[in-house]
Amino acid sequence: MGDAHPNHGTIDGAIVIIGFGSIGRGLLPLIERHFTYDPRRLHVIEPSDEHATFLAQRGIHHLQTALTKDNYREVLTPLLGRGGFCVHLSVDTSSLDLLRLARELGALYIDTVAEPWAGFYFDLSRPPRERSNYALREAMRAEARAHHDGPTAVNCCGANPGMVSWLLKDALLRLAADMGRAVVAPTRREGWARLMQSLGVKGVHIAERDTQAGAEAKPLGAFVNTWSVEGFVAEVFQPSELGWGTHERWFPPNAHRHPDGCGAAIYLDTPGVLTKVHTWTPAAGPQYGFLVTHNEAISIADYYTVGIGGEPEYRPTCHYAYHPCDAAVLSLHETLGSGRMQGQARILEEHHILWGADDLGVLLYGHAKNALWYGSRLTIQEARDLAPYQNATGLQVTSAVLAGMAWALANPRAGIVETDEMDHEFCLRVQRPYLGRIEAHYTEWTPISTRWPQFEEEIDENDPWQFKNVLAT
Ligand code: NAD
Repeated sequence: MGDAHPNHGTIDGAIVIIGFGSIGRGLLPLIERHFTYDPRRLHVIEPSDEHATFLAQRGIHHLQTALTKDNYREVLTPLLGRGGFCVHLSVDTSSLDLLRLARELGALYIDTVAEPWAGFYFDLSRPPRERSNYALREAMRAEARAHHDGPTAVNCCGANPGMVSWLLKDALLRLAADMGRAVVAPTRREGWARLMQSLGVKGVHIAERDTQAGAEAKPLGAFVNTWSVEGFVAEVFQPSELGWGTHERWFPPNAHRHPDGCGAAIYLDTPGVLTKVHTWTPAAGPQYGFLVTHNEAISIADYYTVGIGGEPEYRPTCHYAYHPCDAAVLSLHETLGSGRMQGQARILEEHHILWGADDLGVLLYGHAKNALWYGSRLTIQEARDLAPYQNATGLQVTSAVLAGMAWALANPRAGIVETDEMDHEFCLRVQRPYLGRIEAHYTEWTPISTRWPQFEEEIDENDPWQFKNVLAT
């Protein structure tokens, strides 16, 4: 293995990949390139036979079954044995239960979302608060507090949640340097929170624009996306959630606080698919994004809190502002209008995509330099050249999983961690070769600079960065 593909460690024992969809398939070549392991002990658990031939041709053991609450112990225990690595990349399988079992078996663990068992997201007998990422995260944090020195389980380590938390730390150091501040990278959470506060950052958008497009127009009756259709549809129908910052003067009339937990986030009565926000990315400049709930909106707001609970000294507002690929925007429009899911789900694979890129970064706003977007700009052409079986979106995710796995191998007894708590320099060093260009852009744009005068809107002119102005009416 040459320098182009540095070795990031040895995995003793089995590797069990749960779910072999767009992310599982894209991760496989990165595992093959960067880790030493026994290929006879690599197992894929995947109910669909779509890639059965692909796996068989590579001699990879494929267990064609769906994990359920009833069978997961029985299925996973003999495959993992003692030790090894459980790589959880499926929908509908509980992260909490899987990482508990991994811990019992002494295995390392990683996932890209705090996933519940099937049915959770659309269980309308539960109030919205209980279908939130806040609730899923609180359960995970309680588990982390109870088992702080067990085998490492990296929770929510994809592109976002995941990589964006590492980019945010880089961005803060960049902002400090550009403001002429001599800053040493903090080593503890409190130091990072104080740094963000001292830089005057009011909030952070996870600002994404996916411009990848295929040769064909979206067919009627098909939901088209650049990653999991199932995962995306589940999250856009959850209540919108955002980390709620201390600079906010207005409280949305349809918003609610949580009665317990860290207190860092609120949720709205509207789902992400109906909640649009004004944001900014380098590809598009000013744009709309969907305020889709994500773990990082809560974890970042919590991590960068100075003080505690519902009335801290400082906390940034934080939320996702996602413009998915155009075909996905049209798909959502069709789903909502028809009142039902389309009969077909399609993920645009790398060979379907003609052109486009994924710009995924953090927009730090409200400080003396107004706003800084800092992130990965990866084109489909670059993604194809860098690694097989994935589009640009996929590679931003799988390379974060690679980095998380490398970090877990280097820190095997860290217990349950979120990406905010990991060494961002280590992780970005591993991931960077796969991210295209990492760029920093300052912009003069604010949420009130691109309004249409044809409509009357209530705007807070005194502070452009109030959430009231960010939220599109
Ligand atoms: P996908 O829909 O392409 O694949 C999911 C796979 O899981 C499918 O092949 C499906 O057959 C399999 N599966 C379904 N139920 C299963 C079960 N009970 N047991 C085992 N396998 C099962 O999704 P994807 O794009 O590969 O995404 C995988 C996961 O990663 C999703 O949870 C998604 O939300 C998450 N994700 C996270 C990020 C991030 O940046 N954090 C980005 C993209 C995807």
